[in-house]
Amino acid sequence: MIVHASYKRLQNIIPSLSPSRFFEALTGEVFPDGSVIFPSFTYCLKRKDGTHEVYSSDKSIPKTGYLSQKFIEHPGVIRTSSPTHSFGLSGDVTNYIRGDNSPESPLGFGSVMQWVADSDNSYALLIGTDFTSFTFIHFLEHYYKVPYLEQFCWEDDYIAAAAGIEREIHLTEVPGCSKGFIKLEKFLLGNKLIQKQLFSGVPVYYINLRFLTDAADDFFKFHYAELLCSDEKCQCCASRKKYLQKEKF
Ligand SMILES: [Zn+2]
Repeated sequence: MIVHASYKRLQNIIPSLSPSRFFEALTGEVFPDGSVIFPSFTYCLKRKDGTHEVYSSDKSIPKTGYLSQKFIEHPGVIRTSSPTHSFGLSGDVTNYIRGDNSPESPLGFGSVMQWVADSDNSYALLIGTDFTSFTFIHFLEHYYKVPYLEQFCWEDDYIAAAAGIEREIHLTEVPGCSKGFIKLEKFLLGNKLIQKQLFSGVPVYYINLRFLTDAADDFFKFHYAELLCSDEKCQCCASRKKYLQKEKF
């Protein structure tokens, strides 16, 4: 199970819940024989001007929220080495994915997301967040081979390489903006393919990922361009839209 959760929103549901009690419940009671995975992304791409952060599994602070930070500090959790898209891993997954996992396609082939997609009974739990922070959708971009994924879209300021303390890694299929993922969420809700539950007013999704992969098939085949957001200031989506236009002619 991959977890995306806002601690503030989680506390709206259960005010006294500490991060460690939450993790103990997930790893010990809900999935005692399974795997619990949190993103702990730091987006350490190499900047053209050399001012980028160099990623270290021990020291780099996740930019994916307070619970991500607490999870990688939790006993028994290992953190992977991808300078851009590392994960905190607990349970069975650590028998298959090692701490040095750092694929060239950070959320595609050979990544933690690929392992999740290949596993039976894999789920995503979203608490107080929407699809804009749903990492598995980036894997689906890879799985469905959306044409814009070939376009590195941070080219104004960055090069397609990740800066790690041990080495630099050339990257392919660098994940872009996820603001447009809300369109897929609306599509799935509109077609009653997923269900949003509300607990104390906080939205919660619990989604089987194999089911999601199949349910999103039509969207990815015919509407993938809608995953690029409509914010005029978004450099990444603008770059990829331009790329799609060029491909058409
Ligand atoms: Zn965008």
